[in-house]
Amino acid sequence: MKKLIDSHGREITYFRISLTDRCNFRCIYCSPSERDFCFIRHQDILRFEEILEIADVAVEMGMNKIRLTGGEPLVRKGIIDFIGRLKQMKLLEDISLTTNGYFLSDMAASLKVAGLNRVNISLDSLQSEKFRKITGFEGLEKVLKGIDSALEAGLTPVKINVVLLKGINDDEVEDFIKLTFNKPLYIRFIELMPTNHELTQINEGHFISAQNIKDKMRIKFPDLQPTSIERGYGPAVYYKLPGAKGMVGFITAVSQHFCARCNRIRLTAEGKLRPCLFSDREIEIKNRLREIPAYQKSKRKILIQKCMLESIRIKPLRHHIKSNEISEFNMSQIGG
Ligand code: SAM
Repeated sequence: MKKLIDSHGREITYFRISLTDRCNFRCIYCSPSERDFCFIRHQDILRFEEILEIADVAVEMGMNKIRLTGGEPLVRKGIIDFIGRLKQMKLLEDISLTTNGYFLSDMAASLKVAGLNRVNISLDSLQSEKFRKITGFEGLEKVLKGIDSALEAGLTPVKINVVLLKGINDDEVEDFIKLTFNKPLYIRFIELMPTNHELTQINEGHFISAQNIKDKMRIKFPDLQPTSIERGYGPAVYYKLPGAKGMVGFITAVSQHFCARCNRIRLTAEGKLRPCLFSDREIEIKNRLREIPAYQKSKRKILIQKCMLESIRIKPLRHHIKSNEISEFNMSQIGG
């Protein structure tokens, strides 16, 4: 198996592919206001054929895990067949998906059959009204049903991503942890990241560190024990309550970055390779690929390889955001 090593000695194995910029939710920390929301034109979105071509080369070069995300990946028509075709890539060891869970109750079983291994489901509140305020939509019941469907379908481990929002959902941390008693869920508390130029107010007012929450929870649940699961299962550090079926994780992307272990490259829905979520630097791939006729397969492959290597070469050593810098941080330095 080939290895892709970046300029800082990190092995790059994880390809995170955004299938669409569209989403059925309007989360307060993620979406700009409806008025300003401007979707990428249909013709500017990478076609499934193009994504498969790029992914095929990436896998051959050494990427062995693919995560599908968005926008909301389950709103993209044809995703089940697309996953089925990804599954045919022999060297690909893991296909996962990050979703808001709204469509999962209908789709979990088919996604599993197609070849999806596991899902991360975003859920920031267990209270209907608060859920509506955060996401802009009614839908808590459907998402909870989606979580059960994912467990039933065996899309495991099912991880639940909870973005910590001070004054909004930090009073629900205990309820989220209690979910791990009876269900084999990995509840992951994620620090709010300054990822959107227009949302500085949310970031300034509602950031709370994972350490703060962890300290409070260890007083409430003194039996919460650290587990040995840390590396290999993503950036979270996991804890477990005795006898619980699930686990609790904390992702400190802002307060204590884990860039030294970052193993990922992103492909945006409009066809750019992005080596770091917090950097503006991108390598354009779609337009360059569209200039080469489909029958010139080896020329296309060489271009993809070149773009891949270039994005790995420029992958920064670390991001430079810190929790105490959020209010001062120049948002133009980072991308969405
Ligand atoms: N629509 C899918 C979903 O809801 O999971 C996939 C895309 S969403 C952008 C991926 C993840 O990023 C979600 O778990 C979401 O909560 C998280 N996210 C988005 N904006 C964030 C921010 N500013 N800080 C921390 N996490 C964020």
